[in-house]
Amino acid sequence: MARRKIVAGNWKMNMTPSEAVKLVAELKDLVVSDSVDVVYCVPAIDIVPVVEAVKGTNVQVGAENLYIEDKGAYTGEISADMLVDAGVKYVVIGHSERREYFGETDEFLNKKVKKAIEKGLTPILCCGETLEQREMGVTMDWIRLQIKSDLAGVAAADVANLVIAYEPIWAIGTGKTATSDQAQEVCKGIRDCIAEMYDAATAEAVRIQYGGSVNAGNAAELFAKPDIDGGLVGGASLKADFGKIVNY
Ligand code: PEP
Repeated sequence: MARRKIVAGNWKMNMTPSEAVKLVAELKDLVVSDSVDVVYCVPAIDIVPVVEAVKGTNVQVGAENLYIEDKGAYTGEISADMLVDAGVKYVVIGHSERREYFGETDEFLNKKVKKAIEKGLTPILCCGETLEQREMGVTMDWIRLQIKSDLAGVAAADVANLVIAYEPIWAIGTGKTATSDQAQEVCKGIRDCIAEMYDAATAEAVRIQYGGSVNAGNAAELFAKPDIDGGLVGGASLKADFGKIVNY
């Protein structure tokens, strides 16, 4: 069965609640699609108003983070139950900004992936190499290590339903996009890694996005590649261009 494309916006730390509602209204008619899943991954404080604002549309809401415990003395954190109750369907896990600025390790991210799945949220699990790693020729070794650690102990049926985002760190927010061949090569490598860890059917089912300066001009070429099932989009998700990316 053909995999359904999924285009997700990662708003990062942008948009106040009132700006968020305005943006959803501006994008409303532009992101309509029968064939692509559309997700807005938004800051925690925007979740409730954005869930309300997308009601009746094809857009689903994602969170940018979650904590690994269910409740208790974890000041400032947000649980999976809170996200689910608010209407969230997806959660970004392991974005390079969280790995780099907040010291999130693969061991910790593995717990986040498991917690999300336990609570019925779909992880958008990010992985990707630095420019230095790419130049050293260890891109695929590094990404295989990330995938194997982040998915350790996760069942095949759950992996089949998740989303993996390949995001070369050197392409995030830099305006430098991986070529479609570079992106395809790594996305295929990730699928091969899943086939080795699980089986061919799981590898065929898992959706793998490319992320890193996706824009209205390069989305079509990237998403046409056989192992690229859509995109995780940062900067361009905050403007009308996001509609062009969804309808690439
Ligand atoms: C991202 O935030 O995951 C991302 C890919 O950002 P950008 O599209 O701005 O490079």
